[in-house]
Order: sequence, then structure tokens, then C-alpha cells
Amino acid sequence: MTANTAPVLLDLAPLDAAHFARIEDKVAALMRTRESVVAMQGEALLPLEACIRSAVRPGSTALNIITGPYGETFGDWLRSCGAEVVTVTAPFSGAVMPEQVADALRARPEIDFVSLVHAEAATGNTNPVAEIGAVVREHGALLMLDAVASVGAEPLLTDEWGVDLCVIGGQKAMAGPAGVSAVSVSARAWDRIAANEQAPRRSYLSLLDWKERWIDGGRKALPHAPAQLEMLALEQAVDRIEAAGLDTVIARHRAAAAATRAGVRALGALSPYVVRDVDAAPAATTLRASDGLDAREVVAAALAADPAVPLQAAGGALAAEMIRVNHYGTAADRAVVLDSLSALGAGLRALDGQPRPVGDVEDALKAAGAAWDAVIGG
Ligand SMILES: *Cc1c(COP(=O)(O)O)cnc(C)c1O
Repeated sequence: MTANTAPVLLDLAPLDAAHFARIEDKVAALMRTRESVVAMQGEALLPLEACIRSAVRPGSTALNIITGPYGETFGDWLRSCGAEVVTVTAPFSGAVMPEQVADALRARPEIDFVSLVHAEAATGNTNPVAEIGAVVREHGALLMLDAVASVGAEPLLTDEWGVDLCVIGGQKAMAGPAGVSAVSVSARAWDRIAANEQAPRRSYLSLLDWKERWIDGGRKALPHAPAQLEMLALEQAVDRIEAAGLDTVIARHRAAAAATRAGVRALGALSPYVVRDVDAAPAATTLRASDGLDAREVVAAALAADPAVPLQAAGGALAAEMIRVNHYGTAADRAVVLDSLSALGAGLRALDGQPRPVGDVEDALKAAGAAWDAVIGG
């Protein structure tokens, strides 16, 4: 081993309780909440499952709003907790409308839990949480929000929107680690969880353990050894956003989505999968391959032209028709967006039997650059 491979990630001073609490407080500020925030020692699916298993029990009626693949997972967890699940679905090409939620709540007054994904990185749509939150608050149900793909990419106003359980992760627009996550828990949510005999206790999925063993004791002693490296990385991610300015980071993501959509419209052959600009998630832009194009082949050809661009084909049933352009991390950048469009243009041209004309790549880059500059100021 040479000197420049010194193991700098090892032999650090232990992460103490005060530092751990300080990181939680920084995350709370980023989430715009004054409620409890628990840093969970695992990827964001851990707090998402923990919220559902803690707040839902047999006899619960849950409204699960499905606008992408994560919502389907929530439905499975809700049913496995014994809840009756009412489902509202929006096409992946758009958002759920607050009126749909209001109608569902009116039809089933016994609904006591609502699960919603803010932005879907997988399908590229985002939902109007402020309006939906107001509807849910009026009804009185608890609102759980998956904000993993929205935090850092678009405004997230946890308390103002009446979100009772808000889950974030570090690995998307925060450009941080994937191995820790965080959840905010409102006072009403704690009451519901404490009254739920089925809520996990003495379990990795337990929110109550953190309340009783960490929060209620004034956050003086950690219940177990923390994921130190991931926690330090999370702190650096939050600090970097604060240093740049949250509004600036959000604007970069908005600009990336706007530029990609404008560029693709000019390029032709592909189209934005999410139809209306307001429903498009700033964290990732999805594109529709149609008229005989296969998304997987377009992505492979584009990556052959430039392996560095953040393109991927969607998973599962959408694999043939959906292309995803990621904007988070270092990808929320003007040059990366333009390179992605260049690669798509080159890939489309390289495909055999191209069924539709591809526009001029230079025109696409011009349209994308102008759209970026309209958001950021060129
Ligand atoms: C990325 C993401 C998560 C975290 O899941 P991974 O598949 O592990 O990245 C959860 N919810 C949403 C909406 C996400 O976009």
C-alpha cells in the first residue's frame, strides 16, 4: 500500500451524541420542520416502511396515492399491516389532482392515513403536495410523504404543508450518501404511533425506540453505534447545500429539467413523458420512445456515443418506452444536460431503421441552453 491510499475513512474520532443531534437539526432546517427529526441508519426505504408499520394497524383505512413505482410498494406494506387500502392512481405522465384526493376522502370518511410520493425519480412526475396536504388536513388523516426525490430539487415545506411523516434520503438532489435517511414525525403522528400496539418495538423498523431511547432523554446518549461515515457525509451534503443556497440548488435542478424538456422537443423522435411542465419533477426528466423506437436501444446507442451521461432506461414494464435523464448530484449542470442531449441525438442517428426524422442537434442544444438561461439567468 502506498501513502496516497491511506485509509482516511478509518480511525476517526467517534461520532458523539451531540454531533449526531446537530446533524438531525441541520436536516430538520433543510426540511423546514420544527417537529422531531430522526436520522435513520439505513437507506430511505427503512423510514418509509417504519412509518407505515408504526402508524397503521388492522382496522386502519389508508388512502394510497400511486403516481409511480414506490406507491405500489407502499400499498403492499399497508395491506401487510392489516389496513384496508383505497387506491387513487394517476398516470405516470402526470400528477394526482387534489380534487381526486378530496373525492376519495369524501367517499370514505374512515380513511385515517394517506401515503403520497412527492416527486418520482423513476417516472419523472411531481405532485402538488401543498394542495393535497390541505385537503388531507381538513379530513383529519395522517399524511406520509416520500420526499426522497424532491428534497433539494424543489421546495419542500414539511410543516407548512401539514406533512405528519416526511421521509428524505441523501442520495438524490442532496448529492449525498444513500446509507442514511431521515424522517420527521409530527406530534399527532407520535400520538398515533404510541397508541398502536402493533407498532414495531425493539426493532430496526421502530420509530418508537428512537423516541423513547433518544428523543425523550434529550438526545444525550445514542441507543447504538451510528453509521458514522454516512452521517458525516449527510452533514457535508446539507452544509454544501446551505453554502450554495438552497434556492440556488433548487434552481439548478429546475433549469436542468426545463432545458432537457426544451432540448428534446427540438430534437424530435422522443418527447417528454410527463406532458405538462408543472407536473415534471426537477430531479429527473423522463422521455417517451414511441413509433417503433425501443428506449433500451436508444439508451445503449446514446451511451455508446458518450458513456459519461446520466441516462438510463426505465425498469420493469416501462423499460421499452421510457428513458430517464437524471439531474441530481453533479448532473444538475448545464454542460451535463447539453452532453446528454448530444448523446441522445448521436444515438438516435446511429440506430438502424430510424422511423422518424431526428432534428438538428445544434437546434436542440440552442433550445436547451435558452431554457436553462431562462431559469438561472445566462
Ligand atoms: C430514489 C427514491 C427512493 C429511494 O429508493 P432507491 O431505489 O433505493 O434509490 C425512495 N422514494 C423515491 C420517490 C425515490 O425516488
